[in-house]
Amino acid sequence: MLVLHEDLMQKRVGDLAVFGALPTFSEPLYVGRPNIGERARLLERFNRILDSRWLTNDGPFVKGFERRIAELVGVKHCVAMCNGTVALEIAIRALGMAGEVIVPSFTFIATAHALQWQGITPVFCDIDLRTHTLDPRRVEQAITPRTTGIIGVHVWGYTCDIEALAEIAARHGLKLLFDAAHAFACSYKGRMIGSFGDAEVLSFHATKFFNTLEGGAVVTNDDELAEKLRLMRNFGFTGYDEVSYIGTNGKMNELSAAMGLTSLESLDEFIAVNRRNYLRYRVELRNVAGAQVLAYDETEKCNYQYVVLELDETFTRVASRDELWRILTAENVMARPGGFWRLAGRLLPETERLTERVLCLPTGATIEESDIKIICQLLKVIIENAGEARRLLDGLGTGIASAP
Ligand SMILES: *Cc1c(COP(=O)(O)O)cnc(C)c1O
Repeated sequence: MLVLHEDLMQKRVGDLAVFGALPTFSEPLYVGRPNIGERARLLERFNRILDSRWLTNDGPFVKGFERRIAELVGVKHCVAMCNGTVALEIAIRALGMAGEVIVPSFTFIATAHALQWQGITPVFCDIDLRTHTLDPRRVEQAITPRTTGIIGVHVWGYTCDIEALAEIAARHGLKLLFDAAHAFACSYKGRMIGSFGDAEVLSFHATKFFNTLEGGAVVTNDDELAEKLRLMRNFGFTGYDEVSYIGTNGKMNELSAAMGLTSLESLDEFIAVNRRNYLRYRVELRNVAGAQVLAYDETEKCNYQYVVLELDETFTRVASRDELWRILTAENVMARPGGFWRLAGRLLPETERLTERVLCLPTGATIEESDIKIICQLLKVIIENAGEARRLLDGLGTGIASAP
């Protein structure tokens, strides 16, 4: 990436692009440009699909893809779907969830919408700041006679307190589903994510580190549930003119499955690049007072797809996350506040506190270690001079309105 400001060590707050200087990078650096595996193999697979004219409806590529995912995750069944949201909706329905379901609001909006879309009330529950996932104690407090299930979300590949949630679900007779959209290829206590609860849902959207263009899957060890999922995914058809459930169309197509099979061949490389970037950020920012890069547990498997900057009080006392975001954006460093919605406002104090302090930094195959060094140098200048940055921003007028 072309760097317009080589002289970063000398850079001062007043030299930032937000105040009129040239941006540090000539082109935007993103959080997750899509990973693409071996192009020639992908196109060869696409050609075979086109030649066969078997484009969808449980074709050989989808079947092969499902087998590979089930093996990798260590479950009996993988039911591939057209995207993660539809996979969530179908899993929720097949599990018979109704009434109220307990979910975190610290998640991507699709987790909650998949419930509300079917007339189920998402009951938002606060998180544990250590895991960034559902706080089991608070989950138990949120249970009412109308509660039928719990959906835990393994945010950024940080896994839920699975044992505690499973114990609560069993004791209250509740269904337990995990939104594992961030956690493909991660493990919990040495066992792969995907095999916990009644089922887990994966997303293979283009912005995830492993993609099938659009796609998702429900993975489970429950034979009966898998059968139901397969029927619901395909209009409820049990035969040519026989229908046993109210179904929908959630099928994955053959081209997506071919993309998935090709991406699987490069999975280790995708993860290695993510890990390299993550470690580079950790090293570069280790001595910055006011922020840290969230650590992953190196004793577990992890996909390292998110590099999460967590601002601490020394920063947030003087300036806000949104101000930092605005400054970085002007430098063409397209950080993202995590895509999290404050669905429940101030009713969830821990969620609120964390949401205001996190920012995802650019990573993925298109980000070089040299880019990261520069991004971190920029972060140092901004974070260590937060007060001055704040004063200069105030002079520019309302900053937050022009954040992306
Ligand atoms: C991406 C994502 C989804 C939705 O997946 P799609 O494949 O984009 O529909 C659901 N939950 C979480 C936490 C996600 O990050």
